[in-house]
Amino acid sequence: MEKTLILIKPNAIQRGLIGDIVTRFERKGLRFVGMKMLFMTDEIVNEHYAHLKNRPFFPYLKASMQAAPIIACCIEGAEAVDTVRLLVGATNSRKALPGTIRGDFSMSGEQNVVHASDSVENALIEIDRFFAPGELFDYESAVTRFEYGGEESQKFM
Ligand code: UDP
Ligand code: MG
Repeated sequence: MEKTLILIKPNAIQRGLIGDIVTRFERKGLRFVGMKMLFMTDEIVNEHYAHLKNRPFFPYLKASMQAAPIIACCIEGAEAVDTVRLLVGATNSRKALPGTIRGDFSMSGEQNVVHASDSVENALIEIDRFFAPGELFDYESAVTRFEYGGEESQKFM
């Protein structure tokens, strides 16, 4: 099944939102297949946000991602990349719709509680950035047949 990467950002760790964020993904029916806490080094931040390195806000973004540990999570589900982006909401949390994670838990365009991969291609690269193969877990789900229809199971699993 499709996998994507989320990072629970330092601001969410500081604000005690780990449980709320994890719950949002679990309630939706997405499955956690990898999870780890780490500090983002200069090298990892520079690589992860390379597309933004020339933006004026980059130094602030970098400092914000190193202000506390993060929790990297690999989560799985049918069309997980797009589904997770919808759940996470717009980059600027003030414009993110209520009901989305950013819309419900943040007021900021920078301190916006979570990162989520923006394409299937980037998800593969980002999962590799944070997880060694042995740190991802493939396990039987007892409830998949109650979460997806028969046609979806054929198509996505
Ligand atoms: N960011 C910021 N100011 C901006 C745009 C982005 O501080 O004007 C930060 C914000 O934390 C965002 C991250 O840079 O989550 C990565 O930006 P991107 O455009 O990739 O947004 P995302 O994919 O996180 O929604
Ligand atoms: Mg992005």
